Amino acid sequence: MSELATENNPLLVAIVGSGPSGFYACEALLKSDLAVKVTMLERLPSPYGLVRSGVAPDHPKLKQAIQVYAKIAEDENFRLLANVTVGKDISVAELLDTHHFVIFANGAESDRKLGIPGEDLPGSHTATEFVGWYNGHPDYRETTFDLSHHTAVIIGQGNVAADVARILSKSVDELRHTDIAEHALDVLSESKIKEIHVVGRRGPAQVKFTPKELREFENLELCQTIIDPAELILNPESGAELEDKSNSGQRKIYQQLSKLADIQGPSKARSCQFTFLKSPSKLLGSERLERIEFERNALSGEALSQSARGTGDTFELNAGLLFRSIGYRGVAMPGLPFDNNKGLIPNIEGRIVENGEHLTGLYVTGWIKRGPTGIIGTNRADSVATVQSLMEDLKTLDAEIDKSGADGVCNLLLSRNVRYVSFEEWKKIDQSEIDRGQPKEKPREKFTYIREMLELI
Ligand code: NAP
Repeated sequence: MSELATENNPLLVAIVGSGPSGFYACEALLKSDLAVKVTMLERLPSPYGLVRSGVAPDHPKLKQAIQVYAKIAEDENFRLLANVTVGKDISVAELLDTHHFVIFANGAESDRKLGIPGEDLPGSHTATEFVGWYNGHPDYRETTFDLSHHTAVIIGQGNVAADVARILSKSVDELRHTDIAEHALDVLSESKIKEIHVVGRRGPAQVKFTPKELREFENLELCQTIIDPAELILNPESGAELEDKSNSGQRKIYQQLSKLADIQGPSKARSCQFTFLKSPSKLLGSERLERIEFERNALSGEALSQSARGTGDTFELNAGLLFRSIGYRGVAMPGLPFDNNKGLIPNIEGRIVENGEHLTGLYVTGWIKRGPTGIIGTNRADSVATVQSLMEDLKTLDAEIDKSGADGVCNLLLSRNVRYVSFEEWKKIDQSEIDRGQPKEKPREKFTYIREMLELI
């Protein structure tokens, strides 16, 4: 047999997950000097992961990354097998039987828990559910949100919390011409929410928003942003943090918060208040969420590593709706090790390890490798690094071993009556969504049920 990773004996790599980290790993492989064929597996019939179902509908520029991924998918050495769940329709062992290497890029599909009484009362939701719902993710199509309450509370001060707050704050006219799912726009148009509180456990110098995301709260049609200037007064350690050379990004964010606190204007139908140094300690209500008990926090520790600790001083806020936006969490994949504390697949430089030993042929990239941090572009460098580890390991492979690649996977799926969706078929779904959006002047009207997508093809 000819040498591995040459035209007659290409390297066969399976990538699990079609979000940014999966596509950047694919790009790095296909751009290399080696002959590589990539099989990408995706649980939904639609590719692109959180770029399709996480990025907010009013952030169309961020979604332009999809154009890059679609171009990669046109490469003759790329095959998409969507609507296939790895661990259920096909096992990790079968992927490794059919491919030389497997890269897991399946993201962080679950959420961190607050771990407080009442967390699961009706009316208390994860941000993931809400984001998936307004973005038309089929998993959340039947989830319902009762927006008939006066007050909604968002716990957490990262960009996901900012997205949720903005979607609740905006008027229907501000969202109408985005790719927001129709069912969500209908419910939002009936929203009775007047007050939104975005609550951080630490102070204004430690929030995880980015300045651009905060700027969007300067001028919302229906909603005024409120920040109590007294809450922007910093303890000495936080002052030192903002003076630190390494922390200029955080300084900009603090300046943006100060600017928002200074904005004076006519009162509007809704308000969105950013508030700090508070943690929910109990969610209260007989049948559903009615009130939230908060504890006031103080910061402790040295500058740049301060944490929040409760002061024992509590108060209650009436609220019928709560979103926990405190970070995503990875989910274990059958057949792979999992670090339950961190919610990650244990790895060294992208090589999946168990008891310190590399599991030959298995790699990981993106949020399931490093945790749910960073923006879309962060995944490019991460995936390039994983592919580099994989390339270094090439020499350990036996070139004589015959692998069947995507065809082998397709045969197994067909024998199990799994209806996989190719990239060509996805393009039909894609075009149909764009056509459905046109009369409403929307970039697309997404299909929100898997059966609708499968019926179309
Ligand atoms: P994140 O940025 O990690 O923010 C999580 C927030 O939850 C932090 O304020 C954190 O506070 C807080 N938190 C964590 N545990 C908590 C607890 N037990 N009680 C109260 N608060 C708690 O996570 P994210 O907002 O889910 O975003 C994930 C990643 O996606 C981020 O890198 C984000 O920038 C990115 N993203 C980007 C965009 C965009 O570019 N437009 C949009 C959405 C998401 P502490 O700091 O105290 O831990």
